Amino acid sequence: MKKYCEECGKNVETKVIAKKEIYDVCGEPVEVDTQVVVCVDCGEEFYSEELDNATLVRAYNEYRRRHKLLLPEEIKEIREQYGLSQRSFAKLLGWGDRTICRYENGSIQDKAHNSLLLFLRKPGNMGRYLTENEVTLNERQKRKYNG
Ligand SMILES: [Zn+2]
Repeated sequence: MKKYCEECGKNVETKVIAKKEIYDVCGEPVEVDTQVVVCVDCGEEFYSEELDNATLVRAYNEYRRRHKLLLPEEIKEIREQYGLSQRSFAKLLGWGDRTICRYENGSIQDKAHNSLLLFLRKPGNMGRYLTENEVTLNERQKRKYNG
């Protein structure tokens, strides 16, 4: 794919090269393997949203691995285990409306939230959590979480 290179001052051929980059994730440097589009003549890098997003996902996942944080898919699985929508799950836990939605879409969860989600992953713990935190449930919810 040809692109205009500012350095060369003309349209040039491009290629994709692999390199390592340091990304800042939650204030912490994370090294990731990344792919970048460069000018074949001078090596100038071009921004590619697609490649950049892919790298960011890898950086976030590396950060999660390091801190033993749940992956977005895992958070989704926990929620679905209780048959809850993103909004009702967040509400039940006393979190902001969009919190679960953001986590499932790739935002890094905070540590306390992660610990609670890990606890809730174990079947039966939802009932315990809700009782201990005196969350008022209706009869249908009681059957669902204590069952
Ligand atoms: Zn160039």
